[in-house]
Amino acid sequence: MREIQIGGLVSFTTIDYPGKLAAVLFLVGCPLRCEYCSNPHLLCTGDGEYDPEKIFDWLRSRVGKLEGIVFSGGEALMQSDATINYMSRVRELGFKIGLHTNGFYPETLKRASNVIDWIGLDFKATREKYPDLTGQHIAYDNMIRSLDIWLATGKDFEVRITCDPRFITKDDLIEIANILSDRGVKNIAIQKYIPHFESDDNKTTDASRNQFFIDSELRNHINAIFPSVIWRE
Ligand code: SF4
Repeated sequence: MREIQIGGLVSFTTIDYPGKLAAVLFLVGCPLRCEYCSNPHLLCTGDGEYDPEKIFDWLRSRVGKLEGIVFSGGEALMQSDATINYMSRVRELGFKIGLHTNGFYPETLKRASNVIDWIGLDFKATREKYPDLTGQHIAYDNMIRSLDIWLATGKDFEVRITCDPRFITKDDLIEIANILSDRGVKNIAIQKYIPHFESDDNKTTDASRNQFFIDSELRNHINAIFPSVIWRE
């Protein structure tokens, strides 16, 4: 089996695993090509920059100082068994395991579900807009399957919606909220789109990015649907 490919590390964070002091490992490779990707250097498969065994030694030194380790990317599940095995080893050190995922690999998520304690799942747009945003025609259906698989585990999670005004409208946001509510989702995070890259090409404005966050009627409507809504502005 191929060794896990790690392309980045954040050694300390209080925001990537809710309620836990954590570190984040960024794994190489992603099957999607989102317009707004903030980690384009991680998209290609290839050799990771970090030696997994050195990272593991460092993680061992963090026992008692950190509570959780988050696997992010890219898409961490793209490395399949290499990721699951590494997660198992890290969990045996006593850490909680978090996963940030686009939901593209539902069967891998199912196999990994006994070693993962929490996930943050991206719900990027309505079904119609997913292919334009992600470059993948099956990404939406896979994500919904991942959502249902994780719901069946009964474990904690958060669904994250990034409001890029090129791909999401206020009506879309309400449609997505209703889909999630109908499935019994309790925790969602609505995230402001921040244009870091040339891909945005000045196609969005402050006003278009802020529209979801300054509309009190929209906020109240969504806040009333879920027990927990985080508005990340
Ligand atoms: S799923 Fe995430 S890592 Fe992959 S292309 Fe989209 S934003 Fe980038």
